Amino acid sequence: MTVPGNLFILSAPSGAGKSSLISALLKLASPRPLQVSVSTTTRDPRPGEVNGQHYHFVAKAEFEKQIKQNHFYEYAEVFGNYYGTSEKAIDDQLAQGIDVFLDIDWQGAQQVRLKKPEVTTIFIAPPSKAELESRLKGRGQDSDEVIAGRMAQAQSECSHYQEFDYIIVNDDFDQAVDDLKTIVNNQRLKRDQQIAKHQAMFNDLIAD
Ligand code: 5GP
Repeated sequence: MTVPGNLFILSAPSGAGKSSLISALLKLASPRPLQVSVSTTTRDPRPGEVNGQHYHFVAKAEFEKQIKQNHFYEYAEVFGNYYGTSEKAIDDQLAQGIDVFLDIDWQGAQQVRLKKPEVTTIFIAPPSKAELESRLKGRGQDSDEVIAGRMAQAQSECSHYQEFDYIIVNDDFDQAVDDLKTIVNNQRLKRDQQIAKHQAMFNDLIAD
């Protein structure tokens, strides 16, 4: 029997280092498959972003059609663009025993919590406002106006920190990766998961 995968949500303001943390997480040797869900968005691709890998990039009309078709687990408007998570893709991965990470904002996290109360939610905080601003500027991808907008958005995202199960402060990157690993392992070691995985062993251990 396949033990269903765990569902995790990672939320963070833009510039908190979430993408680097996710890349590090995917590289970890893991006894269990782990994937980050690919969202659908109406925003334009940034340089280097690949359709189908970083996002499914679609036009607004297509996104609105998919909303009507109940394609999304959750969706939200962020920075004037739509972002959403495909319900079928997630359910298929979980059913195959894959642990799935959703990289979504607080609005999406609220919607998923209602549908799947067992979801594990993680908030990644930057160590300070000054550091956040410097990271956003250092990326060199966005104009001053866009950065100012993202700082305002970051403040709004951070105001939801109390809604998450876990909080990681991304000050020291290696420590933050370790923290993330600890949370994933913690979830995998929970009683129900271990029983489902080792049922035959337990049956044997307690048999006369
Ligand atoms: P970016 O445009 O920088 O890739 O992402 C902007 C914000 O949208 C981030 O906070 C990211 O977590 C959020 N986001 C990305 N995909 C989704 C999604 O499928 N649903 C929701 N609700 N937010 C998303």
